[in-house]
Amino acid sequence: MTRRERTVDVLVVGAGPAGLGAAAGLAASGVRRVEVLERDRDPGGIPRHCHHDGFGTRRTTGGLTGPAYARRCAAAAEAAGATLRTGITATGWAGPRTLDTTGPDGLERITARAVVLATGARERPRSARLVPGTRPAGVYTTGELQQAVHLHHQHIGTRAVIVGDEPVSLAAAETLRTAGVRVVARITGLPPEPCAALRPRDRAPLLTRTTVTALTGRPRLTGVAVRHEDGRTTTLPCDTVVFTGDWIPDHELARRGGVVLDPGTRGPAHDAAYRTGANGVFAVGSLLHGGESAETATAEGRAVTAPVLRHLTTGAWPAGRPALAVTEPLQWVAPNLVGPDGEPLPGRLTLRTGRRLTAPLLVVRQDGAVLHRGRLPRTLRPGSSFRLPAGWLVRADRQGGTVQITVG
Ligand SMILES: Cc1cc2nc3c(=O)[nH]c(=O)nc-3n(C[C@H](O)[C@H](O)[C@H](O)COP(=O)(O)OP(=O)(O)OC[C@H]3O[C@@H](n4cnc5c(N)ncnc54)[C@H](O)[C@@H]3O)c2cc1C
Repeated sequence: MTRRERTVDVLVVGAGPAGLGAAAGLAASGVRRVEVLERDRDPGGIPRHCHHDGFGTRRTTGGLTGPAYARRCAAAAEAAGATLRTGITATGWAGPRTLDTTGPDGLERITARAVVLATGARERPRSARLVPGTRPAGVYTTGELQQAVHLHHQHIGTRAVIVGDEPVSLAAAETLRTAGVRVVARITGLPPEPCAALRPRDRAPLLTRTTVTALTGRPRLTGVAVRHEDGRTTTLPCDTVVFTGDWIPDHELARRGGVVLDPGTRGPAHDAAYRTGANGVFAVGSLLHGGESAETATAEGRAVTAPVLRHLTTGAWPAGRPALAVTEPLQWVAPNLVGPDGEPLPGRLTLRTGRRLTAPLLVVRQDGAVLHRGRLPRTLRPGSSFRLPAGWLVRADRQGGTVQITVG
């Protein structure tokens, strides 16, 4: 089958909040042919199936449900003049800024002057978490659960266990309640957390320092086997289990294009201007770091406008930038490439920790030299990001080695 070949100015892949924010900003800034590809039937990304409110800030949107937020993002992009094409999947690369696509009208090959990747993130499913046991029905991530309940109106079950204690597990509990499913327990491998994000109304017990060892039952789930910190094992009878949080960027397309991935976030390595390691390819939103808010994704989409415009005008692209990296218990930092000389630095960096830290001393070094040493006067929790002012980056050697952030 032959491919229809076309050109556009900017091709955005993914019509979630980040891609739509980028499309709205670019089209409103006068870029003529801004096209957004979305593999789903409708634009909006994950918020489309999040029927709870909490999308956007009170200041920006008044606090919307996910579907209302999704509609608002799509309407803004279209009103600005961007073209939204749904049911179209970008499947691979035929050149540095040329993407192959497939959709109901057949195959296409689209070449752009700049590409913005905004393919989002997903929660790691049971298989990727290497949970042993049977392969029964009744096993979900929060995203799959919300699609089953809100988009496909499927029957879920009666008794559920939630695995994970990130803020998104709150959405899982809410969706289960909507579907008439009782939450019998919540499980986390982490220690007890005084300000845990999840305080469900049904007061299901939170089992801390507990790990899932197996799923039982066939063809339907009958229980979740767990091991407690003291070595005791129990099986929690249930017909539904929801694995929450533990985000993995949807990086497959980026990877196929040879875009270098950051080992911490597992999304594209990028600088403060959202430039990846591939000339003319930008990345925004959850693809860069899963588990942030939709408003952050929209803001990043908007913020990529100026760097893309600059690239369309000058064609310039930096090479050989030092990476920013973290050591445990820190999990990742973004942005994770230092920008070139003469460019504005990020005002602050976003980081995550794998365990609770109280007033940690953070030390930043490059090639043995200390660029920054300072205590963050707060408690940092796993599952939530924190920010680190980055003024010290002016002292980084743009030709030097990796800039390493450690807990002192
Ligand atoms: C269960 C759940 C509850 C949440 N609750 C909240 C909340 O209350 N408040 C809040 O602010 N945030 C919440 N979030 C987070 C929020 O949804 C994300 O921050 C936001 O959706 C990220 O936007 P994005 O555009 O980066 O990615 P996404 O929304 O994931 O959008 C990416 C889009 O790219 C498309 N795509 C991927 N690959 C391709 C391809 N190859 N070709 C074409 N299209 C492609 C996908 O279909 C998708 O539509 C929640 C997330 C989840 C999972």
